[in-house]
Amino acid sequence: MSDAFDVLVVGAGMAGLVAARELGRRGLRVCVVEARARVGGRVWSQAVEGGVVELGAEFVHGRAAELWALIEEAGLTTVEREGEMLQELPGGGLGVEEEDEERFGPLETLKEYVGEDVSFAEWVKGAGLAAEDVQAVSGFVEGFNAADAAKIGVKGLGAQQVAEDASEGMRAWHVVGGYQQLAEYLAGELKRLGVEVRLGWVVSAVRWSEGEVVVEGRGQTQLQTQISFGNDKSKSSGNDRLENVQVKKCVVTLPLSLVQAVNREGGLRMVPEPLAVEPARRMEMGEAARFTMVFREAWWLGSGVADRELLRKMNFLMTPVGMPPVWWVGDPTGAPTLTGWVGGPRTAELAGKTAAELGEAAVGTLAKVFGVSESVVRATLVGTYTHDWSADEFARGAYSYVPVGGLDASREMARPEAGTMFFAGEHTDVTANWGTVHAAVRSGLRVAEQVIQNSAADGKRMGGR
Ligand SMILES: Cc1cc2nc3c(=O)[nH]c(=O)nc-3n(C[C@H](O)[C@H](O)[C@H](O)COP(=O)(O)OP(=O)(O)OC[C@H]3O[C@@H](n4cnc5c(N)ncnc54)[C@H](O)[C@@H]3O)c2cc1C
Repeated sequence: MSDAFDVLVVGAGMAGLVAARELGRRGLRVCVVEARARVGGRVWSQAVEGGVVELGAEFVHGRAAELWALIEEAGLTTVEREGEMLQELPGGGLGVEEEDEERFGPLETLKEYVGEDVSFAEWVKGAGLAAEDVQAVSGFVEGFNAADAAKIGVKGLGAQQVAEDASEGMRAWHVVGGYQQLAEYLAGELKRLGVEVRLGWVVSAVRWSEGEVVVEGRGQTQLQTQISFGNDKSKSSGNDRLENVQVKKCVVTLPLSLVQAVNREGGLRMVPEPLAVEPARRMEMGEAARFTMVFREAWWLGSGVADRELLRKMNFLMTPVGMPPVWWVGDPTGAPTLTGWVGGPRTAELAGKTAAELGEAAVGTLAKVFGVSESVVRATLVGTYTHDWSADEFARGAYSYVPVGGLDASREMARPEAGTMFFAGEHTDVTANWGTVHAAVRSGLRVAEQVIQNSAADGKRMGGR
C-alpha cells in the first residue's frame, strides 16, 4: 500500500493525459495507470513503410479551441482536407456528390427539434423523404456517428449539429506525421512534471469511501514514459504482482463500454458502485470498422473512370451499396492511401476480418469502382492496416453516441461524487461533441478543474478545524 499520490488517473488516452498534466501543473502528486503498453488509447498511429497510418482517430474535426491550443503548443503541423466528394453512379462511373438540400435539409431541422425524443429511424419516416433519400441520410447518420439509426436519438443529434456549427465542425484536418504525436507530447510533459505513468498496468477493482480510494491492479512495476508507435500489447513479465495504490481521489477515464460493464460479468469491480455507472448505461458505445490501404502510387488517377483532374481532387468517395460504403484519401503529404469506413450495424459485415482479408476483398471492390483490373490495384499495394476496436478489451467499441432518452447522461457522469470519484472521457463531454478527440480533451480539462476545486475545499476544511 502506498500513499505517495494524491490522485490516481485511470487510462492514458487523451482525456487521462490532459487531466494528469493539469493536475501535475497545479502541484498535485499524480499517478497514471494505463493497461496498454502505449499512451493515446483510441488515438493510435502506426508507422508503416512510407508513412503513418491512423488506426483510431484521424481527423481534427472543426476548430475546438482546446485541441488547437494543444496542437500548436506541441508544434505539430496540420493539413486541411479539401476536395470533392465523389459518388459511385448507379450505371457505373463516378460523379460529384452535390450538396443535396432536399436530402440533408431535414437533418438541419433537428437543431430546433422540441418534440419528444425518438430514434432517428422513427423520425426520418415522417420527414417526407423519398425512400432512397431515407437510405442515404440514414447511412450518413450511422456512418458518421458509428450509431444504429434505430437507437440514436434526435435530441442528441440536434445538440450535436448545433455544437458542430459553433466550431466549423464540417472542416477537418490531418495531423502530419500522426495524431499520436499529441499523446506523446503530453506524455513528455508528464515526465517533465514528475507525474508517474505506469504502462501495462490493468486496473481490476476500485474500492472507495469519501476521501480514500484503493485501486487494485496488476502489471509492470517499472515506470515508463517511453512511447512507441508500435506494439499495443504490454509484455507481461509473467510475475506481474497484484498491487494496490491508495489515493484521495480517483479520475476514471475508461471508455464508455467499460464503465457500463462495471460490476457485471467480465467488468471491473467498483465498490460501492459510483453514481456515474447508471447514466453510462443510458449512453451507447458505437461500432465502426476502418482499414487503410497504402499504395506506392495513386493508381486511381490514371483509371479513366472520371476526368484525371476530378480524381486528383477526390476527398471522399461514397459507394453506398458497397462494403465499405465510404472511402477517403489520406493526408496528401504522406504516401497515397485509401481508407474504407463503415459505422453502425453494418460494421458486423467486416467484424473479425484480418487486415489481409479486408485488403483482398477491397482490391476487388476498388477494381470494380474504378473500372480497372485487380492487378492494377494490387501492383502498387504496400499493405492494408486495421485494428478491431470492438474486439479490443480496453475499448470494446469505437466511440459513444446518445440514444433516445440519453441526452442528460454525460452531464450526470461528469458530476463528482463525494469529492472523491471523478469521471472523464469523450462520453462525459457536456458540450455535445461526443465521440471526438476534442471531447476527450475538454473532459480532461473539466475533470482536472473539478479535482483542483475539491482539493482546495478539502484544504480549507482541514485548515478551519
Ligand atoms: C476507428 C476510430 C476512428 C475515430 N476517428 C476519429 C476522428 O477522426 N476524429 C476524432 O476527433 N475522434 C475520432 N475517434 C474518437 C476518438 O478516438 C475518441 O473519442 C478519443 O480518442 C477518446 O479518448 P478517451 O481518453 O476518452 O478514451 P481512450 O482513448 O479510450 O482512453 C481510455 C484509456 O483507458 C485505458 N484502459 C482501459 N481499460 C483499462 C484498465 N482496466 N486499466 C487501465 N487502463 C485501462 C485504455 O487502454 C485507454 O488508453 C475515433 C475512434 C475510433 C475508434
